[in-house]
Amino acid sequence: MRIFIASLVTETNTFSPIPTSLRSFTNLDYSRRDGSLGPDRGSSRALQEWRRAAEQGGHEIVESISTYAQPAGTTVRAAYEELRDYILDDLSKAQPVDVVLLDLHGAMIADGYDDCEGDLITRTRAVVGPDVMIGVELDLHCHLTEAMVAGADIVVTYKEYPHTDIRECAREVYGLTMAASQGTLKPVKAVHDCRMIGLWPTTREPVRSFVERMRALEGKNGIASVSLIHGFPWGDVADVGAKVLVIANGDQAQAEALARQLGAEFWAMREEARTPYLTVDEALARVRANSAKAPIVLADVADNAGGGAASDSTAILQRVLDLGLREIALGCFWDPVAVQMCFGAGIGATLALRIGGKVGEHSGQPVDVLATVRGLCPDHKQPGNSGSQWPLGPSAYIETRGVHIILSTIREQVFSPELFTDIGCAMSDKRGVVVKSSQHFYNSFEPIAAEIHYVAASGPISPDFTQIPYTKVQRPLWPRSEA
Ligand SMILES: [Zn+2]
Repeated sequence: MRIFIASLVTETNTFSPIPTSLRSFTNLDYSRRDGSLGPDRGSSRALQEWRRAAEQGGHEIVESISTYAQPAGTTVRAAYEELRDYILDDLSKAQPVDVVLLDLHGAMIADGYDDCEGDLITRTRAVVGPDVMIGVELDLHCHLTEAMVAGADIVVTYKEYPHTDIRECAREVYGLTMAASQGTLKPVKAVHDCRMIGLWPTTREPVRSFVERMRALEGKNGIASVSLIHGFPWGDVADVGAKVLVIANGDQAQAEALARQLGAEFWAMREEARTPYLTVDEALARVRANSAKAPIVLADVADNAGGGAASDSTAILQRVLDLGLREIALGCFWDPVAVQMCFGAGIGATLALRIGGKVGEHSGQPVDVLATVRGLCPDHKQPGNSGSQWPLGPSAYIETRGVHIILSTIREQVFSPELFTDIGCAMSDKRGVVVKSSQHFYNSFEPIAAEIHYVAASGPISPDFTQIPYTKVQRPLWPRSEA
């Protein structure tokens, strides 16, 4: 068989002040035809799995682009169209193919395209015709649309948040799409709209058990795949929200019944599954009272670069300084100008620095400190959840009045303690660590944390779901509505 593969991944926060441009992709993570042969990166994992499986099966791979942009604001129209057309041009030239496998996010929005993935899948179908199987892997933080479901034969989302199962999900997409192509699976799909928005870490109950329940249903009694789409609340599109997607083998009624049942179960657990958020002052009071020999880890979820935030909000930092807290570390602030000044001053120097508060209205006011440069790294990195290294660019570690701050040149969320420790900021002697991240930090910080709490500061992805200023949503969505 001849299998065409491509990857185009970003998550769009329509409320973010940072445009997503072509450079947002090409400067960070971009390859054409050979991305799966390179290192483990944001865009390459699914393609690597697909290439490996295809080669083991004696099939031919035709690879197009693989590219990833850090989540940010609406994608520039020409950027989306150019990347999309690379894929479609490569696909046209590759004809005839037997199978198409696409690694997408599912929450990419461009000027003029509320549903980039639905558009790409529809155009892909137009190129290959009705008989070629199209399999798609999506992030669970997607907006599942009718265009995606109608255009693709197989659609599967990750089950885990943090996303530790991207490769496993890719193998599932491969297996199901190949089975459909070979005629041993007749995929029929059903979607249940849960009419809910929220963030649901799968490290917590009752969502943890719901994930296990989904897995237990798969591969037996005619059920091929079950996905819980969490949705991405900060995309102002009609299809935002949580959904259940079931793929069954030939029995449409069975797929619909299970999707409806699981959707009802998820709805029923909505209050119990609600993530608890502390206010900034509640969270810092816990840090002040911490007597454990390990830090309390606070997630500044509202300023998570991985959700499109600027990662330069000073809301928590300012409060830490106002309260005179010491032995607390915060990271990482996207502040290339401050980093440059630290490099100019050198390690050990003390200088006046203006930190953060620059990029958008939710960044707050910049904070002026007299800081000592404790560490500099010209090419700072941190390991992600799959072991791959994520670049932070030139970075600085500064200390002011017992407060330890990491500044980076590349906007990135915190994945791991190495973001702090590899530049000289120890974790073990801190009372508190504030990470600009929503959930992907969790697995690597849990072993070193006395406690972990999610904090609702102000920011472009504040978890106050009732206040997101949608203009395109026409359905009632819990918790904005109880209907
Ligand atoms: Zn996600």
